[in-house]
Amino acid sequence: MTEEEKNCIFCKIVRGEIPSYTVYEDDVVKAFLDISQNTPGHTLVVPKKHVKDIFAYDDDLAAAVFSRLPKIARAIKKSDPRIVGMNILNNNGKVAYQSVFHSHIHLVPRYSAADQFSIHFTDNSANYDEAKYKQVQQAIVEHLED
Ligand code: 5GP
Ligand code: ZN
Repeated sequence: MTEEEKNCIFCKIVRGEIPSYTVYEDDVVKAFLDISQNTPGHTLVVPKKHVKDIFAYDDDLAAAVFSRLPKIARAIKKSDPRIVGMNILNNNGKVAYQSVFHSHIHLVPRYSAADQFSIHFTDNSANYDEAKYKQVQQAIVEHLED
């Protein structure tokens, strides 16, 4: 393990050293609730392999990671009938609002044009306790297809 991987917050989540509300996991990706919950159900999909940003993917990793998105997106959508759309965002570089330098894809469910979504993610974690995160997590997990 490199020093970078040892200290990386998302590598720590992948290794289970930091807890997360996991909604999906396989050999390639881990998907878990973003702590900020920009909107309820906001999920991050991260490659288990430490890659910094989109510029560091090879074709095979990109195909593998991005192929997981529709299944996870559908489970999020089905988790709440109020969800009518989704923004899928991937920030690369500080200038593009990347703050964690282990590549990740944001799945942000949309409830209406007037929901709290913002491209400058607001941190709503103060409105969440463990029970509320678990409720959101469980609703998504229940709607994963086989
Ligand atoms: P970025 O700004 O790099 O596109 O997104 C990083 C995201 O990681 C932010 O939305 C932030 O809320 C989320 N985040 C940072 N630290 C943690 C953490 O320890 N656990 C979880 N679940 N999310 C985190
Ligand atoms: Zn990492």
